[in-house]
Formats: sequence, C-alpha cells, structure tokens
Amino acid sequence: MQKERLQKYAELIIKCGLSVQKGQEVIIRCGLDQPDFVAMCVEECYKRGAERVKVEWSYMPVTKLNYNYRSLETLSEFTAVEKAEWERKVEKLSCLLWLDSDDPDGLNGTDSEKISKANQARFPFIKPYRDAVENKYQWCIAAVPGKEWAKKIYPDLETEQAVEKLWEDILLCSRVDGDPIKAWEKHNENLAKHCAVLNGYKFAKLEYKSENGTDFTVGLNPKGIFMGGGENALGSNIYYNPNIPSEEVFTTPMRGIADGKVVATKPLSYQGKLIENFWIRFENGKAVEVYAEKNQELLEKMVSMDEGAAYLGEVALIGYNSPINNTGILFYNTLFDENASCHLALGRGFNNCLENYENYSVEECEKLGVNSSMIHVDFMIGSADMDIVGVTADGKRVQIFKNGNWAI
Ligand code: ZN
Repeated sequence: MQKERLQKYAELIIKCGLSVQKGQEVIIRCGLDQPDFVAMCVEECYKRGAERVKVEWSYMPVTKLNYNYRSLETLSEFTAVEKAEWERKVEKLSCLLWLDSDDPDGLNGTDSEKISKANQARFPFIKPYRDAVENKYQWCIAAVPGKEWAKKIYPDLETEQAVEKLWEDILLCSRVDGDPIKAWEKHNENLAKHCAVLNGYKFAKLEYKSENGTDFTVGLNPKGIFMGGGENALGSNIYYNPNIPSEEVFTTPMRGIADGKVVATKPLSYQGKLIENFWIRFENGKAVEVYAEKNQELLEKMVSMDEGAAYLGEVALIGYNSPINNTGILFYNTLFDENASCHLALGRGFNNCLENYENYSVEECEKLGVNSSMIHVDFMIGSADMDIVGVTADGKRVQIFKNGNWAI
C-alpha cells in the first residue's frame, strides 16, 4: 500500500478519530501485523503534542497459548501491575486506540468456558475503574489488515494480494481518499441530521419485520437520544470519532422491553470464534431462547455471562444501502459488519445516550433503564426487505425503514 495513503489514514485516525490533544497520554493496542503503520500513528500522536504513547502489542497465537496452558486461577488474577495501569488511566484519562487486525477464527480450539469464567472473575476488579473513566476519555477503534483475516475474506488470493485488497477495502470504507478530514465533517453532519429527525419523534418503541422471520419490538428509553458519528468527551468537550468507519445512528434501549424473534443476517465473531446462522427470542426484554447452526453453545454462554448479558444495550440503524454493505463483502469483523447493517447489542447500554446524562451517576443511569453488563456484543439483523416502524407514546406510527433503507 502506498505510503502517502497510509499517512493520510494515520492522520485521520489520530486527528479526527482519537483527536489527540497537547499533553495527553495515548495507549495503542494492536497486533503484530502492521508495525510500520503503528509507528506512523505513534508519530502522528507526538506531532499532535502527546506526552507519552504506549503501544501494547499482542499476538493471537500467544494469547491462545495462554488460554490453553494457564490455569483458570492465573487467568482470573487481577495483578498489581494491572491495578497500577488502571489507576494511571483514571488519573490521566489516557486516550485509547485499538487497531484491530484479529483473525476472526484465531481462538478456535480454546475453552470458551474457561475464558468466560476468567473474565467473570476479573470483572468486579475492573468495573470501578471502567465506571470512573466512562465517557471521559477519547477512544477509537479502526482496522488494519492481518494476514489471517485477509485470507478469511479472500481465500482464493495469495496472502500478500489478500492483505493489499483488504487495505483497499478499509481505506475505501473509512473515506480516506480525497480529503478525509473534510469527508468526515460532512459525514458527521449527515448522521447528525438523521439523529435530529429521530429525536424529534421521541419514539417509545420500534417494530421490526423481515421475511427471514424477524418479528420484533424493542422499547426505547423515554430519556434516550439517538447519536451517531462523533461525540464529545465528558468534562473536556473534546470532539472525537470512536469508530472509523461508522455509519450508524444508535441509542440505548429501555431495559425490560423487547419481545419477539430477531434473526441474525451476518455471522458474529465472539471470543475469536464465529457464531453462524442464529436467532434470538426475547420476552420482557430478556433473551429467553437462542439458536445457532454453528457455535450454539458459545451463544448460550454469551447471553449468560452475567444477568445483563441477556438484555439489550444498543439499538442501531444503518441503511442497507450503506457504503460498507455495498462492497458486498462479509468482513467477519464487528467494526465493519456492524456498520453495514441494522444491529442490536446484548449487554451494556450507553449512559451517554440519555439526555443530560452528565447529571446522573452510573447507578442512576441503571435505574433509568440503561442495561449493565460486562459484555457489549453487537449482532447484525438488517436485511434487504426490513421494515421498521417507530411508535410514539401516544400510538402514532411512523415508517422509519422501508425495504432495508431509511424512509424518513
Ligand atoms: Zn453499534
């Protein structure tokens, strides 16, 4: 890939995505796939005045060895080093960039039960720190191609060609060509317009129907607002874009109101494994029945990680006619697939999707119906024939989506 195009991409991620400010600390999490690109991002951070940039490299085969060979006890440990790192994050509100290049099948052959148990054991130690920084720091997820990921999408190409092709896809979907910063300003304006229209209606619920069997109603939070594109970090008002790419407008649903069946329209990569051809049935907000042709057990485990894992934390709307979906590629990666299709998420909701959320504590947000959980997992339900109707508290019905695309 040409250096100049990658340079523009690095600039986009650091300026517009993470929006690094003078004097800030930055943590970059990444694999070993694109070290030169990681170095470009590090340099951009320093050029923007970052005080310290820390890169946390990982390598999935090693992660896998750790999961396989270590005992549940050592995997569950919350070490003094981690504690100190979290304390620093809370103190510095470090920016966090995740450059995802993971192999979607990279953790096949690991024990999901052991991984889930370890995560459950660690969560109570992590939660207070996570709550303390929530919405206050800038973060961004963007992608770079990894060899295994590229081969998963393009199995017939030689590895090098597959990686190059995936670079092209990533840069296209991230609007990197031309003037990316301007393109993102325009894009953010468009997303804000959709949010404004939806917020004007104050819908109490959304009804979904599709020929694939989806017949589903979800309640929206009375204080909820739809958001999309960039957002402001609480306290500092620094405007940043948490996802590159991003096509969605989303909100936090009302915990306890969701009924009917949703059929997934894309496979879901969870804990390094793919859950395929699945559906979930909800009653009173809770996932009460799940079915998957592949990895059903993993799906069952996912919805029972904790009490909130069976409840919804996100409702997101994306036209079927989105630039990512129009590539016709199944990315096997949530960042891309979620931005190609209407989706829901099981688990943790978004406090910052409540109006004036800064006035509420984390506990108050939970009381107001924002779901709490250690997981937040998006799954895709958009289809070419999907109809969505918004229903207001006084029963007014508005068609929001017609045949998979925006109708308002
Ligand atoms: Zn989403």
